[in-house]
Amino acid sequence: MASSTGTRPQLSYLTDQLNELKQKGTYFKLRVLDDEQAAVCHFDGKKVINLASNNYLGLATHPKLREAALKAIKEYGVGSGAVRTIAGTMKIHMELEEKIARFKNVEACVVFQSGFTANAGTVSAILGKEDFIISDELNHASIIDGCRLSRAKILVFHHKDVAHAEEQLASVKDQPGRKLLITDGVFSMDGDIGPLPGLCDIAEKYGAIMMVDDAHSSGVLGRNGRGTIDHFGVHGRVDIQVGTLSKAIGALGGYVCGSRDLIEFLYHRGRPFLFSTSHPPSVAATCIAAFDVLEQEPQWMEQLWDNTKFFKKELGLLGYNIGGVNTPASETPITPIIIGDGRTTMDFSKALFEEGVMGTGLAFPTVPEGKARVRTIVTATHTKDDLTQALEVIKRVGKRMGIIQ
Ligand SMILES: *Cc1c(COP(=O)(O)O)cnc(C)c1O
Repeated sequence: MASSTGTRPQLSYLTDQLNELKQKGTYFKLRVLDDEQAAVCHFDGKKVINLASNNYLGLATHPKLREAALKAIKEYGVGSGAVRTIAGTMKIHMELEEKIARFKNVEACVVFQSGFTANAGTVSAILGKEDFIISDELNHASIIDGCRLSRAKILVFHHKDVAHAEEQLASVKDQPGRKLLITDGVFSMDGDIGPLPGLCDIAEKYGAIMMVDDAHSSGVLGRNGRGTIDHFGVHGRVDIQVGTLSKAIGALGGYVCGSRDLIEFLYHRGRPFLFSTSHPPSVAATCIAAFDVLEQEPQWMEQLWDNTKFFKKELGLLGYNIGGVNTPASETPITPIIIGDGRTTMDFSKALFEEGVMGTGLAFPTVPEGKARVRTIVTATHTKDDLTQALEVIKRVGKRMGIIQ
């Protein structure tokens, strides 16, 4: 058998670009988790306090979810066998969609393979090249890709700036195309919350479609984790609510909630729905169990917010820029430690890891140039002791590197 030939000349430009990353200090190796996604776990053989995961409520390892997954595997096997529109819609897929729709108090719901495909598939399905998208500058990559795929014209507004969004809407109000106003509910890099009431006002004023991506708010904000629509009480004013099943819900998937017709339309025109196989039944079963837990075990969300308040306060007292200075101010369990320079950020993240704290180093293009950061996320399953230990390491390493006094 022929052995691998390495990189042939056709692809050598990729090697050049990787070398550039290495020179800039932003090249990374994947960290590999040896055991469960837990508050304290082992990456690359090293025991760390995990401040990098989106497993906000600890549901990725919750006994009821494990049990639901195993039961579904025993009853229905491990795969769905086809895309939803051919033969891959199982009863359990329908059950999950009905469950989420009831939870969100909307007419209907469609589940996609991921939050990414939910955003990209929805925006690209409902708009065409004669239409306009008014989008927050810090919206998630999956929204941006959906906008590009739709071929609609994209007008970006300054982060959370309702007046600027209105200016953008006003600038195209006499154009014939449809208008979509779109924002993240919680912004993933900064942890701040989108200004939903103001955006709903202007969407209504200009007759625009209103869409919110609640990936980081599902299970985190609102009653029992119903998200930012519930947090702000703007029920009935958001046409399209996207959420993920991959973060606080603990498994995998994305969903879109809205009117029955919106969902039926996406069944017919959402390309990831039509052309990519549906979830294994165990994933659907896991998610159903997760929504039961959200309703029956509010203690996880309480613990999450308790930890969030404690950690944010202590981190701020250490003298770090944790947002709010030339950057948005976090209001959620996501707390960035803003460093600025990409190389220093990656070195800081590595040094933290060596001393037993896992926090993700994020540099350009994930965040704007000059705003590199280590992002921390606390979860419900961290103990106060875990967090205190992590803070000690963050303090010691920051002082040694001259990031704090
Ligand atoms: C993580 C994330 C997504 C993607 O969700 P997945 O289920 O991981 O594909 C979409 N939007 C935002 C804002 C996110 O943070």
